[in-house]
Amino acid sequence: MERKIVDFHQDAIGDWIADLACGHSRHVRHRPPLVEHPWVTSEAGRSRHVGDVLDCVDCDRAGEVENPLEKFGRQVAVAVKFECLKAALDGYESARMSGLCHEGAWDLAIDRIKAVEIEDVIGRLPG
Ligand SMILES: [Zn+2]
Repeated sequence: MERKIVDFHQDAIGDWIADLACGHSRHVRHRPPLVEHPWVTSEAGRSRHVGDVLDCVDCDRAGEVENPLEKFGRQVAVAVKFECLKAALDGYESARMSGLCHEGAWDLAIDRIKAVEIEDVIGRLPG
């Protein structure tokens, strides 16, 4: 089942993992010549691929047994988690870059979470 990429993170050995809108994840490796995804090694490259779709085998496997309401609830939870995390990190980082101390940056991060737009969260829901 095709799912949108909402973010990336690294595993314990530094390989990149795409976080999918459904809450599952998938490795996206760059190991030439067998697997080539050179873009995954740069921040700019990864940002360009947020919103792309990948096939989620975990969803395919769970698809037949999962209650649709549970599935929708999980998708909403993932979208909310992602928007809040992104808001907090962006807020903290921009506060620090503009010279605020840790506490000031933390306050701004919280303000950014409070200002998360519900429309953005809905926009991240798959399908
Ligand atoms: Zn999935």
